[in-house]
Amino acid sequence: MVAAYWAGGVMEKLKKTVALLQQLQAEYAPNAVFACSFGAEDVVLLDLIVKHNISVRVVTLDTGRLPEETYAVIDACSKKYDVLINVYFPRPSDVESMVKKDGVNLFYDSVEKRKLCCHVRKIIPLNRALKGAKAWVTGLRRDQNVSRNEMKFIEDDASFGIVKFNPLLEWSEKEIWDYIRANDIPYNKLHDQFYPSIGCAPCTRAISVGEDPRAGRWWWEQEDAVAECGLHASPIAKRGDK
Ligand code: SF4
Repeated sequence: MVAAYWAGGVMEKLKKTVALLQQLQAEYAPNAVFACSFGAEDVVLLDLIVKHNISVRVVTLDTGRLPEETYAVIDACSKKYDVLINVYFPRPSDVESMVKKDGVNLFYDSVEKRKLCCHVRKIIPLNRALKGAKAWVTGLRRDQNVSRNEMKFIEDDASFGIVKFNPLLEWSEKEIWDYIRANDIPYNKLHDQFYPSIGCAPCTRAISVGEDPRAGRWWWEQEDAVAECGLHASPIAKRGDK
C-alpha cells in the first residue's frame, strides 16, 4: 500500500509541501509559528516539520473545552517527536467574566455569544502565540470548506498582520490519511468516529455520510452561516501560488 501511495501524484504534492516549509524557514525563521490543532492535517504537518528539521515554533491552543481525545493526541505527539509544543491558554480573568455574565454554555445562545467565546478562548490566546511572528503555517486544505476555495499557498493574513503559509492546500482528505497510515502518525481518535473537523467538545459532533465536513461544527447555527471560528478569516491580499 505504501509503495502505491508514493508512486502517485501525491509525491509531487509532498515535494511542494516540503519546499514551502523550507521557504518558510529560509524567509522567516526564527519568526515563524506553526499553530497546531492536532487534527489530521496538522499531525501530517508536524511530522514533516520534524522530519525535515524545519525551524518553526510549534504552538497549540488549549481552550479549556477540548475533548479528551485531543489531549491524548497532543500527549502522543509530544512523546513521539523531539519538539517543544507550546500550549497557550485563555486568560482566566477573561473566561471568568464571560462565564459570570453569559454562562458556561453561552455559545448555544446566539452566534454573537459563540463568537465571543471563540474570541476569548481562541483568538486572544492565538494573538499571544503569534506575538513577534512574521509568518505562520496552517494545515488548511482547499476542499474543507467553500470559504477556503480562494486560499493560496502563501497569502497575507489581514487578521493577524503576518504572512500565512498553507502548504497542504491541494492535498485531498484521502492523501492526508494515506500519509498518516504510511508513516504511523498519532492522530485524534475522534476521526474514527466520523469527526472530520475537531474543535471544542461542546461545539463538535460527528457527521453523517454525504454531509459537509464542516457540518459537525456549530451545527445549531443557521445553515448558510460559514462554520469558521475567526482563526482563518479571508485574506486581503494574495501572494500567488508558488
Ligand atoms: S469552539 Fe465553542 S467552546 Fe470552543 S471557543 Fe468556540 S464557542 Fe467556545
